[in-house]
Amino acid sequence: CGIVGYVGSRSALEVVTAGLKRLEYRGYDSAGVAVLADGGLATAKKAGKLENLEKELAERPLPTGTTAIGHTRWATHGGPTDANAHPHIDNAGRVAVVHNGIIENFALLRAELAERGHELASETDTEVVAHLLAEEFSSCADLAEAMRLVCRRLEGAFTLVAVHADEPDVVVGARRNSPLVVGVGAGEAFLASDVAAFIAHTRSAIELGQDQVVELRRDAVTVTGFDGSPADVRSYRVDWDASA
Ligand code: GLU
Repeated sequence: CGIVGYVGSRSALEVVTAGLKRLEYRGYDSAGVAVLADGGLATAKKAGKLENLEKELAERPLPTGTTAIGHTRWATHGGPTDANAHPHIDNAGRVAVVHNGIIENFALLRAELAERGHELASETDTEVVAHLLAEEFSSCADLAEAMRLVCRRLEGAFTLVAVHADEPDVVVGARRNSPLVVGVGAGEAFLASDVAAFIAHTRSAIELGQDQVVELRRDAVTVTGFDGSPADVRSYRVDWDASA
């Protein structure tokens, strides 16, 4: 339902959880975060309100890192449980993904992944994306390219945001029939399903177009089509009052 991503120099978990709070008004049944730190990936996710996730993070703190993603879920496939909450990760625990929308052909993709030896840990349509990204990344070593390759195989409406422990300063997003906005700061960048998530930090925004993938680094935002063709980037200034 709500998505936030961050890469920069601050504590990414703080930025992401504050962003998720700004998206609470949309409604949700679970929440989760993933952070890249110390060469690895760490996640926390909980059914229920953001307070449940915050309590979990207070009891079992994640390492501090400067790249993170977060999600508030409104369940469509699989009940609102801790296991079905996002982020979802691959079997090696190197890639994490959050998702809004529905992947229509997930049953077929799940069956194919199971045949190739993947073990799926949730009942969601989303989890297939983590496993597919891991497979593609293992041959191209480029998360944006892996995302483009995976998106071409997905049917339905989706916003996807992912991180990979082997690309610690990168957040990748993709969208088809579902919103995703980039916030461009000084030495930092944001991704969210709604500008409300990052308006406290920057008012410089880029709206992603249909069937586009974005690669976020601290100092660079690169947008392409799912086919890899370079895309026109239209940036604009968000001028509405965040407190309104
Ligand atoms: N279809 C996904 C799920 O059920 C995403 C739901 C959402 O948009 O929050 O996990």
